[in-house]
Amino acid sequence: MIIDVHRHLVAKDTVQGHYIRGAQKSFVMMYNKSHKTNVSPRDFTDNVIRPLIDPHADNIVEEMDAAGVDKTVIFAVDYGLLFGEAPIGAFDQNKLYSEAAKRHENRLIPFIAIDPRRKGAVKHCEQAYHEWGMKGFKLHAGVGYMPDDPCCYWVYEKAAEWGIPIMAHTGGSPNSVPPLRWECSRPAYFATAAARFPEVKFIFAHCGDFAWWQEAVQAAAWLPNVYVDLSLWQKPYVKWPKARFYQWLRDIIDIAGADKIMFATDAPYPNLMCPLKEWVKAFTDPQTDFRFTKEEMDMILGGTAMKVLGLEG
Ligand SMILES: [Zn+2]
Repeated sequence: MIIDVHRHLVAKDTVQGHYIRGAQKSFVMMYNKSHKTNVSPRDFTDNVIRPLIDPHADNIVEEMDAAGVDKTVIFAVDYGLLFGEAPIGAFDQNKLYSEAAKRHENRLIPFIAIDPRRKGAVKHCEQAYHEWGMKGFKLHAGVGYMPDDPCCYWVYEKAAEWGIPIMAHTGGSPNSVPPLRWECSRPAYFATAAARFPEVKFIFAHCGDFAWWQEAVQAAAWLPNVYVDLSLWQKPYVKWPKARFYQWLRDIIDIAGADKIMFATDAPYPNLMCPLKEWVKAFTDPQTDFRFTKEEMDMILGGTAMKVLGLEG
């Protein structure tokens, strides 16, 4: 079983203009660096992003089939209180995700993206969970709250009550005006929240990213309810000498355990740099002298996620 625990849909009117204008500068810089091109932000939008528009996730499922990925967790990001509401508001975006998941039953697993400070959020989440079948929460604290702030507690309490996990963005954020607050996405703050709510499973997205992976892995090693996902690590995989990447992977397995680590992409952007098929192969057929057992790789590819998502028979 191969499960990608972190992916987004590309759909029109789901991101507010303020965010797009700033974020594009970051994304186009990263794209140009890895492709050795000099594409303008405008061309990036028109030629790279627009063709990815796929609100019903039909192309996603096709891509999964070609790469041998069985299931994918999908979710939006709730940026609304920081940047202003996108034409399709946060609640409607969650609905969109739940509908895509219904269309591709047994393949896509939708999480609820929510800013805990939103008016009406509790009621909305109750509907999303009970009526729309959404199976987890996605928090992006960079929009301006601390993960261990009491304003978040109701989300953690609901996660405990419903037995569903929290996907927490940990790591960097792109350019934007107003800025996303980097410090709110530090793994340490989510670790404090995870320690306070030991019955809730927390997935630290991007394994803390380049600067904070040690903090994320440290939390996963200390706290039974903390897990990490490997989305965004396609870049080091592609760019670094393979021995360096696999040394890193060996290290984090030795520190936290393969039963705390999950395969993920954060598609669409990272898949432009490293096709899904290739990223899967990095684990099914690792080209390295470092030794990984089949059990470890199977755990990372899907075993850990089955446990966290409650998919075990
Ligand atoms: Zn993401």
